Amino acid sequence: MSGKALTVDEFDFERVVGFDQSRTATEPWASLDSGLDLKYQCGMGYTSDEHITMFDGHLPHMDTEDGAGVRLTRILGTPQRDHLDPFLLFDQFRSDDPDQYIRGFPPHPHRGFETVTYMLEGHMRHRDSVGNEGHLGPGDVQWMTAGKGIVHSEMPEMDNGLMWGYQLWVNLPAAQKMVEPRYQDIPAAQIPELLESGCRVRVIAGHYKDIGGASQTRIPVLYLDVTLLSGACFDHSLPATHRGFLHMVQGQVFSGDAMVAAAGTGSTPVLDSGATLGLLAGEAGARFLLIAGEPIGEPIARHGPFVMNTRDELVQAFNDYQNGLF
Ligand code: FE
Repeated sequence: MSGKALTVDEFDFERVVGFDQSRTATEPWASLDSGLDLKYQCGMGYTSDEHITMFDGHLPHMDTEDGAGVRLTRILGTPQRDHLDPFLLFDQFRSDDPDQYIRGFPPHPHRGFETVTYMLEGHMRHRDSVGNEGHLGPGDVQWMTAGKGIVHSEMPEMDNGLMWGYQLWVNLPAAQKMVEPRYQDIPAAQIPELLESGCRVRVIAGHYKDIGGASQTRIPVLYLDVTLLSGACFDHSLPATHRGFLHMVQGQVFSGDAMVAAAGTGSTPVLDSGATLGLLAGEAGARFLLIAGEPIGEPIARHGPFVMNTRDELVQAFNDYQNGLF
């Protein structure tokens, strides 16, 4: 982590009429006043109308089930879009019905990539076969490098209430697929936040302005959680080498007068390499995850929880797992 994270005291509350200052900085979006129509000047010195937004198609969502019967929405890793190099999978789990999450993800293996779990609501307990254990609560991140192989479980630690989170799979290049497994359990309080002009940016990975993310990544990845109050702007240009997607969690964002992304539409916009984003939140505000990374450009051989470069390596992974080598 580097750079300067603004404190909640420096947040520009003055400009956000109706903002409930008694709330914590971790949930400003919970108190959005839908009646506001504030127009902010964007940080780069022009208004959102002049911005260029570069999208390259959409990821259609698919309702599915995984683990021992967890209902989830698969956003990436579907029959329509198997992967978006360097990303292999992106799932949302969101339900207040315990029957849809309570059975969790009992012990299962992984090899050849990383899993990134980001909780918005609810609690999960993570355990692995060599004795590591961790808890994930609201706002927490777990960045797990499966590398040469782990066997782990991811189980809800709650039997009622809302469970809401995301899991991203980040591929590893051939040279790193067999690295030692590593966990980064990052509590919400350790994730740097920038608060300015009705915009909150949590920097989970990569860099935003002069703020470095909380996670150490093995390949270049940007992972931001952005919350905009009504009428607030967000400007950012992806590095020319990065591509990714913008997943709406809440509300709508506009570029000029055109709505470019909205929650609940059943699809997630893909961002072209080096996309320049100039986004204006709709009246109800907006929250989105901006995820991008540098493509690896290698062949992908995947089956279930193993992601390698060749079929032979996949067979080896199955054999190693069955022989108890994980
Ligand atoms: Fe897993």
